[in-house]
Formats: sequence, structure tokens, C-alpha cells
Amino acid sequence: MVSKKIPAFIPTLPTADQLLPYLKRIDASRIYTNHGPLYEEFLDRLSQQFRCSSDSLVCASSGTTAIAGAILAAAGRAREERPNAVIPAFTFTATGLAVEMCGFRPKILDVSAENWSLDPIQLKKLPDLDSVGLVVPVAPFGRPVDPYGWQQFQDETGIPVVIDAAASFESISSNAERYVSDLPTAISFHATKPFSTAEGGCVVCRDHDLIRQITNSLNFGFVETRETEMPGLNGKLSEYHAAMGLAELDSWQEKRSSFEHVSRMYVDACKARGIQKKLVVTPQISLSYILFAADNPAEAKVIESKLNAAGIEYRHWYSAGLHKQKYFQDKAPKPCPVTDWLATTLLGLPVAKDLDIETIDWICEQLIGPQ
Ligand SMILES: *Cc1c(COP(=O)(O)O)cnc(C)c1O
Repeated sequence: MVSKKIPAFIPTLPTADQLLPYLKRIDASRIYTNHGPLYEEFLDRLSQQFRCSSDSLVCASSGTTAIAGAILAAAGRAREERPNAVIPAFTFTATGLAVEMCGFRPKILDVSAENWSLDPIQLKKLPDLDSVGLVVPVAPFGRPVDPYGWQQFQDETGIPVVIDAAASFESISSNAERYVSDLPTAISFHATKPFSTAEGGCVVCRDHDLIRQITNSLNFGFVETRETEMPGLNGKLSEYHAAMGLAELDSWQEKRSSFEHVSRMYVDACKARGIQKKLVVTPQISLSYILFAADNPAEAKVIESKLNAAGIEYRHWYSAGLHKQKYFQDKAPKPCPVTDWLATTLLGLPVAKDLDIETIDWICEQLIGPQ
């Protein structure tokens, strides 16, 4: 029996000792930001993860600024003729805020029940597609989005597509040939994501010109000189965050295996109870999530109260969906029943890279629903 409260997520980032050699280099160079030597080295080592050249990557101060920088470079700010940005209801609120930051009016649509994401073929049939100036498909929980379907959509409609793949660091790095494409794909390095610089993010894209423009949009729209030539913001990754990234890469393999071990223990514990079919884990989704998919909202309620009673924190990572967030409520033209279903039935179970088997057993014991 475990008596203390179990949090929904406990992050682990590099320790002070692991960071120190990098911090000393910052002391010596007196370069603290603006794409200094640690930033360049981080970009270089990151590009090895994604099996691309460093021209295919730019880092940002967060996943949200990575999305916004990619939008400003790929689509520019919203224009009067095409004011809408199509985004899915099943996502974290940052997707909506990023498109708004770039002047777009969010048009929130429901996702497909098969892959929890927007469908490019369905979207092409949207009656008022000519009011749409941007689409941001989301890879929910890091569940990958097929870039080729979206590339086709962009080619056929001329509407720019930016992929919010915030939680997809591992799926993209393990399947780079498939998921690194000509579409700008934004990834988050937030502390709740498995690969983290505390705050930070990047955009990966095989189109080097576009990466250059995103780099500029994340640096005040400066191009060659200190002259703003395009819309922009300050979304740069500092040398301190690059130091975090380098230290994180130093022990990434080990961190990744620890998360994988946790996921395997969850699967085994659920197998022993005959409920493993209800578990959604890596590689289908990101290592930082272990999802319990209840059969229906009523079962989810029962499991939630059992978890509550046992002092186990769980999370609806996307709350009730973007269309139900107070600020975005009036931006969904139609009801979003699939998102409503997913948002209520998917429970995020506790994750930490050092979660032990006793705790996992105790958590899974609560997942046995009414028979
Ligand atoms: C984490 C996340 C973001 C935001 O990333 P930040 O680094 O926290 O700004 C955006 N979209 C999705 C789907 C996310 O999971």
C-alpha cells in the first residue's frame, strides 16, 4: 500500500552537476543568448537526433513560440480575405493561442475517432474553405500526424499547414524519414514533455528557406540587419536553455529507457488484471503519457473516484477540449462529440521516469472497473 499522494507527472531535468560544465562555458564566452555557441552546438546535436542537417532546425523559447514563429513564416499574419485558422478541438490550449497571436480567428473543428486528429480529406470538403488561411493539425499526446496527407492538402488548396507536434520528440526522432517533411513541424521541450529544456521548443522542416524565415520571425523579423522586414516576435532559445538541452542530450538514452521501462511495467500490471487493452502507451503516444481509455464516460467517472480515493492524481491533459475552454467557447461552429468523448474517457495516469513497480501496481489496482 502506498499512502502518500501520487502526482500526475514528476519531471526530471539535468542536475546542477550535469549543467555546470556548460554554464562555465557561458561564463567564459559572456554570450547569453542570440544564437551563441551553445545554441549552435545544441542545434547540431539535435539534428543528429532527427537525422537531418542543422539547416532543417530552429529552436524556440517554447513550443508555443515555435508554433507561432512557424505560422508567421509559412502563412504570415492573417489577412482579411482569409481570417480563419482551422485547429482541432482535441488539443492543448496553446494551439489556439498561437494562431490567435498571429491574428487568425480560430475555427475549431472536431477530430476523427480513428486517429484523434483532423482529417485532410474531410477538411478539403469544408464549405467555407476559402475563408481559411491556415491549418494547424495536432499530433495529440504525440500520436504522429501523417505529413504527406497534409502536404497534399497544402499543394491542392494553397492553404499553409503548420503541424503542432509538441509531444512528438521521440516519435519524430525514431521515424525521421517518415515524419520530418517539408511542412514546418513544431515540438515542445517543456518540462512535462520527455525531452526537456524546462521551457523551449523547436521547428523541424526539410525546407531550409522556410527554416531561415522561421529563424528570422523568432528574432523580431530581422533578416540580415537589425531591420524588421517581416512579422515576428522574440522567441529565441537562450544559452542557458541550450545548456539544458545539451545536458539533456548527454543522458537522453538513459532517460528514454527509464520512461520505456515505466511504460512496460504499466502494461504488465494491466495485463495481470486483464485490462491492458484499455491502456494507450508508447510507441503509439509520447513517453510522457500513460493513458487509460475508459469504455465510456460512466466508467471513467467510476475510475476517477477510485483514483481520487486512493490519493492518485490523474489528468485530462486537454481539459474538456479547446472548444470548452472559456476563452475559445464561441469559436467552434459545430458540436465536437468525438473530442467530448475522448476528453472525458482518456485519463492521464501518473508518470515519472523513476515510478516504481509497487506504485504502478497500486495505480493499476484502481483501474479495474465495474464488471
Ligand atoms: C505541450 C504542448 C504545447 C505547448 O508547448 P509549450 O512548450 O508548453 O509552449 C502545444 N501543443 C500541444 C499539443 C502540447 O502538448
